[in-house]
Amino acid sequence: MPDLIDNVRAQLDALESHSLTRRRRTAETPCAPRQIVDGRELLAFCSNDYLGLAAHPRVVEALREGATLYGAGSGASHLVSGHSRAHAELEERLAAFEAPHLESSRALYFCTGYMANLAALTGLGATADAMIFSEALNHASLIDGARLARAGVTVYPHGDVAALEAQLEASVAPVKIVVTDSVFSMDGDLAPLPALLALCERHGAWLVVDDAHGFGVLGDAGRGALEHFGLRSPNIVYVGTLGKAAGVGGAFIAAHEAVIELMIQRARPYIYTTAAAPALAHALLASVDIIEGEEGAARRAHLRALIAQLDDGLRLERWQRPASTTAIQPIIIGANDEALAAAARLHEQGLWVPAIRPPTVAVGTARLRVTLSAAHTEQDVAQLTAALNQLERMRA
Ligand SMILES: *Cc1c(COP(=O)(O)O)cnc(C)c1O
Repeated sequence: MPDLIDNVRAQLDALESHSLTRRRRTAETPCAPRQIVDGRELLAFCSNDYLGLAAHPRVVEALREGATLYGAGSGASHLVSGHSRAHAELEERLAAFEAPHLESSRALYFCTGYMANLAALTGLGATADAMIFSEALNHASLIDGARLARAGVTVYPHGDVAALEAQLEASVAPVKIVVTDSVFSMDGDLAPLPALLALCERHGAWLVVDDAHGFGVLGDAGRGALEHFGLRSPNIVYVGTLGKAAGVGGAFIAAHEAVIELMIQRARPYIYTTAAAPALAHALLASVDIIEGEEGAARRAHLRALIAQLDDGLRLERWQRPASTTAIQPIIIGANDEALAAAARLHEQGLWVPAIRPPTVAVGTARLRVTLSAAHTEQDVAQLTAALNQLERMRA
């Protein structure tokens, strides 16, 4: 037994010696810009609650109502007895919401985006002669989905449509699956979806789009990246997550009805897990109402104004800012310990901005990952901007 524990400790020590140990902070109040964290009030720029719906009174009330109507737990997986009226209504609502971008669309609700991505790739890439073409900066859940699928996997360089085209042309796989994040979670940039879709249609390939950071935020009605780019195609398998802009939890795949039927029949991350609490689905109906309505549009407009304000206000010379027009605004510092030190200095000033290190990002590109929310005020963003400008000058 001591040998086993020694081995574990050696692994932990190695992380510590590279400034790669991660620590959790404990929030004592709801997700919001101002949060009590470990007993102290912080102004937070780290959640993915882009529209400020995680603690929205209407959504919270719907969650309470859902618990009254359906109880606390689902009791079983969807195919046994855990599928409730709330799940069914949510799926119908989401299918209708994304329908302008998918022909013959149906939606399937999952417990998490991680599981939805595993399901999409293991479901579509179930045979050894299939090939998955995966973007280099894809989210870990897509990488793991590709690993679990029986299909072969090739990675194409970030944003490189020409390289993908060459790979597709060279492939004789009968089933080709291109998979990409729409908004890259650590860089905030957008995938060239129109060009990717054109390639997929030309080569008869699926295009799996993980819109975790686009759903609710992008597009006039908040339908996400497909609406933003004005895309519509039966080749698209759309994954939207519901724990970010939608403020609750879970995810959905929207696609051709045959694809959804295949997921229900075969996708292990759908079949072999207890259905999410029906109350969550009930709360999500309220989220989708807000996203689609005037309030959602107003929240998106406010968020866009805050993004522009941050962009105008930052005056950085050494730290790099990749071009991002989304709520994800990274500031690349480089070394792990420097990124950690910067986050610590901000924390001393009551600002909570996470330092993101490898393996989440490439070695040498440790960064502060600022995320903005419609729940922030102009004053909040002004405070952050001033602190970042001052911090960079101090350490130059
Ligand atoms: C957060 C995220 C996921 C996972 O979604 P969860 O619902 O949190 O499991 C998948 N893809 C991307 C790009 C993400 O950022």
